[in-house]
Amino acid sequence: MSKGVLYDSTMCVGCKLCEKACAEHHNLPYNEAVASEEKLSAHKLTAVTTHGDKFMRRLCMNCLEPTCVSVCPVAALQKSSNGPVTYDSSRCMGCRYCMFACPFQVPTYQWNSRLPIVKKCDMCADRLAAGKMTACAEVCPTGATKFGERDELIAEAKKRLHENPGNYVNHIYGLEEVGGTSVLLLSSVPFESFGYRTDLVREPLPLFTFRVLSRIPDLVALGGVLLGGIWWITNRRTEVAAAEGKHADEKEK
Ligand code: SF4
Ligand code: SF4
Ligand code: SF4
Repeated sequence: MSKGVLYDSTMCVGCKLCEKACAEHHNLPYNEAVASEEKLSAHKLTAVTTHGDKFMRRLCMNCLEPTCVSVCPVAALQKSSNGPVTYDSSRCMGCRYCMFACPFQVPTYQWNSRLPIVKKCDMCADRLAAGKMTACAEVCPTGATKFGERDELIAEAKKRLHENPGNYVNHIYGLEEVGGTSVLLLSSVPFESFGYRTDLVREPLPLFTFRVLSRIPDLVALGGVLLGGIWWITNRRTEVAAAEGKHADEKEK
């Protein structure tokens, strides 16, 4: 069974405790300045945004068939059978294809770091592995963010739409978008108001990627050569940075 997160914006009071718990769990800074930022960044894996008196969360949707995973040439991104889309920085070569490919503009990059890596919500994969719920769901005081089996969360979302149709836009965001996502959203105002795309296809984007690439084998071959070059350059850059760091340490001593 695959896990999921249901965020119901009609229950959200905008306290941002989810942001804080996420930052704490991922050893990221969190203060008033960070709290006031309403967008995802390398130090903010989830953001509560406002539209008038309404709130909405942004985080990685942890797609069922993620485009980021399908375009990553070195398998740094992986979809887990229980839901999370995880990232292994030791494999990442910094090509940032995942950032361009994500239909939800989620992955961010540590531009200010000497050895930058990609950052995104991983649905608290380590907590799930330990039998816990996501940090954001655990801390949410109103139940606006709820963790559970994806199938059960879908049933719950459908029940809410059926019982209170006037409270909601009649749509479970993430039920079908790009083949479905592990994060599901409910809202009382159109999702576009918060910048969510509603023109996304209902079938997984990796299928499109494969169909396009399978028709242009030369491009695939050329891409392989280019990627090999990027991989070499990135590794070399990492080695040089590590050597420089070691040299600087020795000088300080
Ligand atoms: S939302 Fe973007 S980064 Fe997250 S799993 Fe889907 S494609 Fe990947
Ligand atoms: S699921 Fe975990 S990583 Fe994702 S936003 Fe919630 S606390 Fe952060
Ligand atoms: S913790 Fe819950 S109520 Fe508070 S901002 Fe996050 S989702 Fe909304």
